[in-house]
Amino acid sequence: MNPIVVLGATGSIGRQTLDVARHLELDVVGLAVNSGRSNLSELLEKWPNATLAVAGASSEEREALSKDLGSRVSFGAESVVEIAATKGATVVNGVVGSVGLGSSVAALEAGNRLALANKESLVAGGNVVKKALKKGGGELVPIDSEHSALFQLTKMCDAQRLVLTASGGPFRGRSRQEMENVTPEQALAHPTWRMGKRISVDSATMVNKGLEVIEANVLFGFGFDDIDVVVHPQSIVHSMVVTADGAFFAHMGITDMRVPIQYALTYPDRLLPPVPAFSPAGLTLTFEKPEREAFPALDLAYRAGEMGGTGPLVYNAADEVAVLAFLEGRLSFLGIPKVIERTLGRFEHRAVESTDEVWEADREARRLASALLKS
Ligand code: MG
Repeated sequence: MNPIVVLGATGSIGRQTLDVARHLELDVVGLAVNSGRSNLSELLEKWPNATLAVAGASSEEREALSKDLGSRVSFGAESVVEIAATKGATVVNGVVGSVGLGSSVAALEAGNRLALANKESLVAGGNVVKKALKKGGGELVPIDSEHSALFQLTKMCDAQRLVLTASGGPFRGRSRQEMENVTPEQALAHPTWRMGKRISVDSATMVNKGLEVIEANVLFGFGFDDIDVVVHPQSIVHSMVVTADGAFFAHMGITDMRVPIQYALTYPDRLLPPVPAFSPAGLTLTFEKPEREAFPALDLAYRAGEMGGTGPLVYNAADEVAVLAFLEGRLSFLGIPKVIERTLGRFEHRAVESTDEVWEADREARRLASALLKS
């Protein structure tokens, strides 16, 4: 198996990837983190063959880290991109935010396998990532549980439609009115998956599912009319596909991200993952239609996706701005989809063809969302 590079090594996906790496005894040759604050010498002690890229570190942190770690550490966003281009590695991109796009492109252009958890790469830069894939001859294997399931299912049968499952988040079944006074603590309490902060809030608003619908469009080339969402609170079925004769094929298993992470590293091989065995005996699985009125962010994603160009990028950027405001107590929970809708409506949409164009439009969308947030 290829040696691996883990971007976002101290985040939720990164830590679980390193668990899998220990389990499979993989060679970890590169690690990238966002800040110089966490205990990085310990990380490098555990992974003696790894070099480390620190994207954002203050000058004091740089000095201290260089003194401790010497030539094994490098700094700046460029150092992360450089590590992503390590020849012959499988690159796990668990970076949060649109900054992850640069590394995705670098990994694919170097001909590497990209095990992708960074949603923004596909949502903001779908076009750009597809181009990099073609140019470098790399390989893209999704890590997100739904897309991992769809990746596997679409290889097993002639799928005509995709059905993404959604847990419904912590507020499933509530009306809009009942969500008026929701607090960040309540929104962060996800019932089935262990995840980072933004994605937990995104799951509560169903923005996360909206982003996943857009990702599915980019990854599998299905039109938005052929991508459905069904709420499945148990999160046992990770997604489904439908064939021409109406048969549903479902991917089932334990809710643990280490399973799709490991699959992305070992594909096409399947190995025993470091998780408890799964059995469907005794489980009751239920499926519901999503409440589109209570969770308007879902329909907004379809609208943004149909727009193409900057549509998905603006949807994502406006949400990130709104979620941060919500977590800091500056915006209500129901304000999140409102900010997205207004930003989508006001933005001057256009096509995006390069990483720089994506970032420029992304900054513009964030400025617009912040301005709308204040008004
Ligand atoms: Mg998911």
